[in-house]
Formats: sequence, structure tokens, C-alpha cells
Amino acid sequence: MPVTQTPITRELFDEVILPIYAPAQFVPVKGQGSRVWDQQGKEYIDFAGGIAVTALGHCHPVLVETLQKQSEQLWHLSNIFTNEPALRLAKKLTDATFADRIFFANSGAEANEAAFKLARYYATNTISPYKTKIIAFHHAFHGRTFFTVTVGGQPKYSDGFGPKPADIVHVPFNDLDAVKAVIDDHTCAIVVEPIQGEGGVTPATEAFLSGLRQLCDQYQALLVFDEVQTGMGRTGKLFAYQHSEVVPDILTTAKALGGGFPVSAMLTREGIAKVMTPGSHGTTYGGNPLACSVAEASLDIINDSQLLAGVEQRHQWFIKALEEINNHYHIFTTIRGKGLLIGAQLAPEYAARLRDFIQAAAEHGLLLLSAGSDVLRFTPSLIIPEQDVQQGMAKLQQAIAQVIG
Ligand SMILES: *Cc1c(COP(=O)(O)O)cnc(C)c1O
Repeated sequence: MPVTQTPITRELFDEVILPIYAPAQFVPVKGQGSRVWDQQGKEYIDFAGGIAVTALGHCHPVLVETLQKQSEQLWHLSNIFTNEPALRLAKKLTDATFADRIFFANSGAEANEAAFKLARYYATNTISPYKTKIIAFHHAFHGRTFFTVTVGGQPKYSDGFGPKPADIVHVPFNDLDAVKAVIDDHTCAIVVEPIQGEGGVTPATEAFLSGLRQLCDQYQALLVFDEVQTGMGRTGKLFAYQHSEVVPDILTTAKALGGGFPVSAMLTREGIAKVMTPGSHGTTYGGNPLACSVAEASLDIINDSQLLAGVEQRHQWFIKALEEINNHYHIFTTIRGKGLLIGAQLAPEYAARLRDFIQAAAEHGLLLLSAGSDVLRFTPSLIIPEQDVQQGMAKLQQAIAQVIG
């Protein structure tokens, strides 16, 4: 070992990591349940959940055990071979949803990339080579590959990289008339998040989603639900579409699927899947046994009526605590969302202080997220204990008091 070693500190980030993130000033080193500790041993309550990923908290004992066991069994084969964990997980996902066929990948963007490619492939192969238009929404987020970031509705993320994938149009979210104005026989898909997550925790209305379903049926287009953030119990159902009558043709899920281990899935029906043939799409890592075994364990725990009822109960704790804070400080205009995907929109006079609230929260020992330009976002573990909710809310109150003086 060399005599002088580079100290591993937050400063090193600014020297060696591509400058596309602005991480917090501390470096977490350990997590357990809904608590995290940094290099100095300072404790944090986690209301962020790794951006809606660690749905069972950090280092859940069952996931740890599953990962350890599988790590001694088989890690990776590629899709030249299939494997038992992938087959088991796919069977369980089809049993639990509208879907018959599953494609596994490693991230939300990759699941969406597959979904958008499938939608176009299906339309161009079964109806017309000109049926390629994708309708998506302002403020939508679908990932960072060039196709998915272009379908996303935030040009600041897709500009500057040269010519974009073509034939993608964006209209205002929750505005059915705007969709009617652009949909036509050349439309292959409408892509929507049941609750816009990154865009500001904005739920789609029931009327909007059922209107999209009708338009898709009328124009022979596929309805794609991006449930990367809303899936896996986040809203109190296994998938958000299960709250309503509207069933999509393609659904993507990622974030919480592996509870923190990278894995994603695209779900669809047989009639759509059958246009694909060996070689039409693929991935090296997708569906590897290590990821699928952890996701299977995660799904087994989350797809349980008691756990899902607990998400609803925790929703009530969060809303009640946020309303109490708001009665005192009057900083939120709306508190919205479903289950444990909750957004508190800052009043206009506080919107510019969004980063200050998050930084002050960290100083008081609370991990918190933003969404959009003026929303505090709460995406904790689906099994966060009541005591952690209360302690976290006390810290939030202290942080707010500090910021607004
Ligand atoms: C996070 C997110 C994605 C992208 O997922 P990655 O794993 O970062 O590629 C896509 N869609 C939605 C709705 C998301 O919240």
C-alpha cells in the first residue's frame, strides 16, 4: 500500500467525477432501514429513499440474504442462456399484472427505450411504416438515453446533443384537448407517467387517463405507462394503473423493482410482444440472475395486501404532519400525490429557496428530495417506521424555521 493515499472526501468528487451532479456536501457510508450515516458518523432520517428506489429501506435483511445466497450461486450468463431467477420473476410479474411478456433491463431509461422501440416496431410492422409519431407531455421524465430524454418533456435535458430522434410531439399534461389536436393515424404511442415524478409530483386525472385510453383505441396507438417511479407499491397498489380502470398496453418499471439493486422491466401483452423476434432488441446484463433474484424477493415482500395497506397508512402520517407544518409556516400551496410519492409545492415567495430547504434539512439530519422547480418530494421506504416519520418531520420543521427565519 502506498504511504500517502488520497483522502476519500467530498472534495475528490469535484476532481474525478463527470460534473453532471451536484451532490450534498457529506458522503454517506452506511444505511439501515430508514436511517443513513455519513463519514463523520452523523445520522440522517431518509425521506428520499434513493429517489424512490430503496422501497424496503436500506439493507433489508431478506434482500441481503437473497443477494448473498445468489452471489454464491450464479451472477451472470448473458441472454445466450436463460436462468431461474429471471423466469420466476417474469412469471410473478405477469401473474400480478395485465402483462403476458417481460423484457428485463438494468435501468428505467433502458426499459423505456425498449418500450418506445417496441411501440414503433409494432406499428410499423403491423399497420404502416409511417406510423411512428409518439405523443408525450411537457415536464415528463423518461430517462437519459437520447430517445428517452427526447420523449421526456424537458428540452433543457435533450438540447445540445445534435439532431434528436424525430416524430415526437409534446403537449400539456392533463390536457385531453391538446392530445386530440395532435393525434392522428400516424401516431404509434402515447407515453405518460400516471403521476409525473421528476416533473413535480403531478397526478394525471382519472378522466385524462381514460381519455388517453379511448384515443389510443380509436387511432390504433399503444398506451405506454412509465411506472418507473410509481411502480412497485409506491402509490399503495403494486402499480399505479391498478387504482383505475385504465389498463396500458406497455408498462415500464425500474427504480424500486430491485429495492436498490439495478434492474428494470418492460411489461406487455402477447399480441404486441409477438412482433419481436430473436435479435430485434437485447442487452447483455438485462435479466441477470443476481438482479432478478433480488427483485423477486423485493416483489414477494411488496406485493402483499398488508404492506400495501401500510403505504396508505404512512401516506396519512405524512400528509397530517405536512399539514401541521403548513398550518404553522404557510409555505406550501398544495400537498399532493398518492401513497408514498408525495409532493409539497412551495408558495411562490419560497420557490427560489427550494435548495436552501433541502440543504437545511441535511444539516438537521434529514435526506429530502426536490421535484420540478418548486416542490419538496417525499419518497421514503414503504415500511418506514412511525418513529422515523415523526423524527424526520421534526427535523423538517427545524429546517424550515431556519430557512424562513
Ligand atoms: C427515474 C425515472 C426514469 C429513468 O430511470 P433511470 O433508472 O434513471 O434510467 C424514467 N422514468 C421515470 C418516470 C423516472 O422517474
